[in-house]
Amino acid sequence: MTLFSSVQLAPKDPIFGLTEAYVADQKPDKVNLGVGVYFTDEGKIPLLKAVLKAEEELVAKHLPRGYIPIDGPNPYNQAVQNLLFGAHSPLIKDGRVVTAECIGGTGALRVGADFIERLNLKAPAAISNPTWENHRGIFEAAGFEVRDYTYFDSATHGVDFAGMVKSLESYPKHTTVVLHACCHNPTGADITEAQWRQVIEICKSKELIPFLDMAYQGFADGIDQDGIAVRLFADSGMSFFVSSSFSKSFSLYGERVGALSIITQSKEESNRVLSQLKRVIRTNYSNPPTHGGAIVAAVLNTPELRQMWEEELATMRNRIKKMRHDFVIKLAEAGVKEDLSFIEDQRGMFSYSGLTAEQVERLQKEDGIYALSTGRICVAALNTKNIDKVARAIARVLA
Ligand code: PLP
Repeated sequence: MTLFSSVQLAPKDPIFGLTEAYVADQKPDKVNLGVGVYFTDEGKIPLLKAVLKAEEELVAKHLPRGYIPIDGPNPYNQAVQNLLFGAHSPLIKDGRVVTAECIGGTGALRVGADFIERLNLKAPAAISNPTWENHRGIFEAAGFEVRDYTYFDSATHGVDFAGMVKSLESYPKHTTVVLHACCHNPTGADITEAQWRQVIEICKSKELIPFLDMAYQGFADGIDQDGIAVRLFADSGMSFFVSSSFSKSFSLYGERVGALSIITQSKEESNRVLSQLKRVIRTNYSNPPTHGGAIVAAVLNTPELRQMWEEELATMRNRIKKMRHDFVIKLAEAGVKEDLSFIEDQRGMFSYSGLTAEQVERLQKEDGIYALSTGRICVAALNTKNIDKVARAIARVLA
């Protein structure tokens, strides 16, 4: 017997595990559609010009690296609030938003989950079925019982909204409901504005705790347009949570830049909430790192850099849309009989392609094309060089 004899080998993380297999693959024209990362047409993770410029200016200042506040620096947190709620939001003016910089969207979700758990409401958390694979783990790790709400309809390749409503209506008071604010991961299927209004009514009448996960703002229709769910919740008068991430929209994956925003009922409540939120953070990682947040704050708060970033974000968004459009055409040209036009309608980086686990396995073995066994493909990893190969290979496994 050793200290660790009873430690079981944990399963590999499905996405990071897939990337390991991809890296080890010797095929020269392999394609990784498994990751949740935006690539340029050259197959590279972009370093945005706005980010580079902000970083160069920052580095040139040779600033000391002291600790920053537990909840992150003010200019960063204010920029996050303006992006989510709009600079003229009455919520911000009334002091009803508490924002803390967190370690990526993941860190924001975890800090939020820990905060809710400490409210001791004894209620579960509910996540969409399917969802980003880490949602369950994060909420379970924070001590929640996690349930799934109905979300995707594989027959229509869209949202089973009636099913979603039924699930939400069945939950006990104070259930935390994790909602993808836009660009649903993994399905690419979002609900409409009218449906958001209905969801808000249910959250209100059932006294649920909405937790909006905003990891892809700017990847569907634009920065403000993609904020519609957050803005509607802001107008609802409810208290709610928002985790936001700049991993994708700033291509700053490894810098781990995100934020948690909590919407309260008053400035006085905000003060109390912030004081407890700081305790959650202090006892976890003490305070956030300096670099990534400083870059994001500089870009968002400097008009010239902000404009540059918005253009670069639009370039990413439009390239993904073009890949969706071209992919549907190329799949048909390659002989696919099924109607796959839903790929063009889905939003954000991902598509639930409808491929089965067996078909995905064949793509990997025979073609070196990597996707998740659920059939999720990252459309943002398609480019003008690999799209024909991928379309032909999919046509073959579907035949
Ligand atoms: N939420 C969703 C829906 C995501 O897809 C991701 C990342 O893929 C995250 C949160 C986490 O983002 P981050 O990498 O900033 O931790």
